[in-house]
Amino acid sequence: MAKIVFLSGAGLSAPSGIRTFRDAGGMWEEYDVMEVCSTQGYAANPQKVHKFYDMRRKELASKKPNSAHEMIARLKNEFPDHIAVVTQNVDDLLERAGCKDVIHVHGILTHLRCLECGTIFYHGYKSQEGALCPACKTSRVRHHVVMFGESAPMYAKMYEELDDAKLLVCIGTSGQVINVAWMASWVEDSILNNIQSDPNLDRYFKHCFIMSATEAAPKIEAYCRNFLSKELGFDKK
Ligand SMILES: [Zn+2]
Repeated sequence: MAKIVFLSGAGLSAPSGIRTFRDAGGMWEEYDVMEVCSTQGYAANPQKVHKFYDMRRKELASKKPNSAHEMIARLKNEFPDHIAVVTQNVDDLLERAGCKDVIHVHGILTHLRCLECGTIFYHGYKSQEGALCPACKTSRVRHHVVMFGESAPMYAKMYEELDDAKLLVCIGTSGQVINVAWMASWVEDSILNNIQSDPNLDRYFKHCFIMSATEAAPKIEAYCRNFLSKELGFDKK
């Protein structure tokens, strides 16, 4: 049973240099988001979309997890049954920090999906050119990232984890894509960490750390350890 649910967004990976569409100076300026991140854009020009994700995969290879990814991985490894890790991020930096069982609600760049049989498979940081489905051997494969206009099947898993949650920890999420304010109202205790304050979001959370994810990481870790030791009735360092 999960007692703590971590839900992270772009702000978790920003200190690692992962660019996003929403940041100023981000990808919005170089790409038309509807061309590369929507089902309509994909239907109109799949090659352009493949190239876009090839480039993002290549960029990801050179990025490194930061101390906030490491903090989440450390807690998850220590308390695997009491922590669920959900992320909106499509990078693999939590995994590279050693975190297991990450729920990627918007998919993950390092994996591809077969359009014939639905198999999801690891592909790494390479171009998807020439990739074949390991199950049915077709070359009809695509990025495993949820686009606008598509359903996100892992949301169901996220809500399942929230059912058991007593503490929700949101890191680096504006609440524009997933309604974290609404989620915070379901749980007894909640933490929000964003680099910028947003009074319309902050007021729904019991604790707010308005600073970068890496600055907030030691505070969040201390809070979670204290919460778990009280909740589970034991003291762990
Ligand atoms: Zn297949």
